[in-house]
Amino acid sequence: MYYIGVDLGGTSIKVGLVTESGSIIKKNSGATPVEKGYEGVTNKIIELIHNLMETTEVKKEDIKAVGVGVPGVANEEGFIYFATNLFWKNVPFGEKLQEVTGMKVYVENDATVAAVAEYTNGATAGTKNSIFFTLGTGLGGGIIINNQVFSGSHGIGTEVGHVIVGDNFYDCTCGSNGCLETFVSATALIKHCKSLLQDNKESMIYHRVEGDLEAINARIIFDCAREGDSIAIKTVNRMIHYLAIGIGNFINIFDPDVIAIGGGISESGDVFLEDLKEEVKKYIYVKSMNITEIKLAQFKNDAGIIGSAMYAKLQLIR
Ligand SMILES: [Zn+2]
Repeated sequence: MYYIGVDLGGTSIKVGLVTESGSIIKKNSGATPVEKGYEGVTNKIIELIHNLMETTEVKKEDIKAVGVGVPGVANEEGFIYFATNLFWKNVPFGEKLQEVTGMKVYVENDATVAAVAEYTNGATAGTKNSIFFTLGTGLGGGIIINNQVFSGSHGIGTEVGHVIVGDNFYDCTCGSNGCLETFVSATALIKHCKSLLQDNKESMIYHRVEGDLEAINARIIFDCAREGDSIAIKTVNRMIHYLAIGIGNFINIFDPDVIAIGGGISESGDVFLEDLKEEVKKYIYVKSMNITEIKLAQFKNDAGIIGSAMYAKLQLIR
């Protein structure tokens, strides 16, 4: 028996046929026709699923369930309250997909399904309680408690990027000030770095982008930090400080076995991971016990497909 995992993103849709143990047999993808709206995107997903099943000669009876990771907030029935990048608001996505495909459909937030991929097949496998952060343009995440996905009462959990950890010099996209995301995401690094560069034009970063501050990205900042540039190091250290506060808070609440960090920024983990582990020790309640392991996540591109398929599996056996 198999599961189908669907990774629905703002630019592409990836669909995969996944085994019970979380291996991808075959995958298929296409551009997300955002301009065609909810109906158009849903039809595209259905088309991709059909093509996948045709090319693998798998029958509907061989599919236990379909899991979908969506860039938005969805309840258990797959009703999507909003998905900003898709411009969706209050759409009965899960119900429609189930009706047309005739298969059981489970829908969850994309960061949560990525957490599931780590839990079933990646960095947090074998643990009972874990927290996953996806650190990129923003900060998302997923929490597994007692071997189950925790998503709150309304599907809004777990917006780990929007816990407040201090005062910041700019507001978050959510309207609050001081969200963790605004201190630690790639967007945050770039904004902070730019502000430091105003008075530090001798920085390696300034030369690397030939004075064009709009060309700065997180990778350049980490590369320059690795080479010892003081402005880059200062920028990364501020990220480490606030990420440690955020992680410390989560450890104090959940006492997890593992915290795994994924997303684009995790690819520069060699620059910050060891310092981060040290910094976190300052903020945990039981300072004498180094209880939670902090490590980099395992998956990159396939987390959405594997995670959504395994999410469907977890929901079925729940
Ligand atoms: Zn926020």
